[in-house]
Amino acid sequence: MMPGPGACAAGLFPAPPPIRMSANTTVRRTKIIFTLGPATESEEMLEKMIAGGADIIRLNMAHAKHDWTRLVIRRIRAVSQRIGRDVAVMMDIKGPEIRTGDVAAPIELKAGETFDFTIKPGGTAGNDVEVRSVDVNYKDLVNDIKVGDTVLVDNGLIRLEVLEKHDARIRCRVLIPGELKSRRHINLPGVKVNLPSFTEKDRGDSTVGLEEGIDFIALSFVREARDIELLRAFLAEKRSKVRIIAKIEDQSAIANLDEIVRACDGLMVARGDLGIECPFEELPVIQRRAVRTCLAQGRPVIVATHMLESMIEQPVPTRAEITDVANAVYELADCVMLSGETTVGKYPLECLQMLDKISRRIEAEEADSAVREPAVFTGERMKVLHSAVVLANEIPNSKLLTFTRHGFMAQGLAMLRPTHSPILTFTPSPEVFRQLRLCRAVEPFLMPLASEPDITIENAVTVLRRAGRVNLGDKLIVATDIVAQDRLVDSVQLRTVR
Ligand code: PEP
Repeated sequence: MMPGPGACAAGLFPAPPPIRMSANTTVRRTKIIFTLGPATESEEMLEKMIAGGADIIRLNMAHAKHDWTRLVIRRIRAVSQRIGRDVAVMMDIKGPEIRTGDVAAPIELKAGETFDFTIKPGGTAGNDVEVRSVDVNYKDLVNDIKVGDTVLVDNGLIRLEVLEKHDARIRCRVLIPGELKSRRHINLPGVKVNLPSFTEKDRGDSTVGLEEGIDFIALSFVREARDIELLRAFLAEKRSKVRIIAKIEDQSAIANLDEIVRACDGLMVARGDLGIECPFEELPVIQRRAVRTCLAQGRPVIVATHMLESMIEQPVPTRAEITDVANAVYELADCVMLSGETTVGKYPLECLQMLDKISRRIEAEEADSAVREPAVFTGERMKVLHSAVVLANEIPNSKLLTFTRHGFMAQGLAMLRPTHSPILTFTPSPEVFRQLRLCRAVEPFLMPLASEPDITIENAVTVLRRAGRVNLGDKLIVATDIVAQDRLVDSVQLRTVR
């Protein structure tokens, strides 16, 4: 028999804790990234999205031309300046990609049909030969793939199995039929592909991005730490301090997760391609493992793709989407990300508001109950930051305050995931200010740092009071260096705003 409405009070289930409604006055700790596209690229929409709380704007170079890229980055900067809220720009470069060639007309692939992929760039598929075929743009595919492997076309919509290989031809059987159009994306689950990780196109796109002052480069299909090192060498050559986000999208990345996390400045769990390259039931396991690895190694982590997919067409999300977003916040990810929802969706601003609302609600909940993973405490400075976070966690309503030239102090505090305190961070660098938009709970402020640490703290408190972020009597845990016996030493101070 189903328990009646009084069952809970009668003791059949433990009484739930009281529901706390969204704490709308607090500042959101989870950061929001949205992808720019036709739905959001106008000045008017950019203003709404930036004023509405977006932290980072992503440009997907798989679909972007260089003129458009330059135009929109300048527009983002102009709008940010006009409304007084600077956001970061992330350029997402395409990385290695295998595609089918052109077809004169869509080919209707039938279940059980034999079909060939031909290694002959530039040709067209023929419908008039006995076995139909299409070209692929990667000549070594025939060496990388083996009989029995799976070939997925068009985001996994069409599935084939490799039957035989010849010099310039891979013969397959169609397992899941579908319509094959021109230049479709190919995924090869579990196949180690020997394509370069940082392509000529990526180099050209990144050069434009650096000229326009981007803040992050997201490298697609990172398979090992070496891929990141190649991009880092390119950035060093250009004397750029742009931070690298490693997008994990296939099984090699999962196998090499630890070394990838160590080598990057931030990780993106790119669930779109991951969901094609890996068995789908592995996806939540991979997400959780990736977030935990980043927490343990102190790297910011982004949970991306399909967070509010149904809102491309509908003004409200599904219940499952709400829970998916909440799950990323419960897992303590730094950022959640929108893709199609804000490039071509009908409700981009509503999507942003939805992420904002769900994040705040879950953050209010988790403050009491989150289980914290141990982070790495290697250097002495990290131990000082750790003691600052322990103190902040002990004092209700306290706020952390820190100062940073390169961002490390703030990132160090963020990786320790303070339970409730925001990390109020002052930096003199506009680039660091924007890059700190990536880190959970960090609220950046731009201000020159005085040579006397004490004066810097006083100036910061004045700015915070004017901004309404601190009030008389508030407790501040200050993690900074101070002058002691003519030397700078790391310190943790407990101050009361007077
Ligand atoms: C993804 O696959 O989830 C992703 C973010 O990458 P892209 O949009 O570049 O395919």
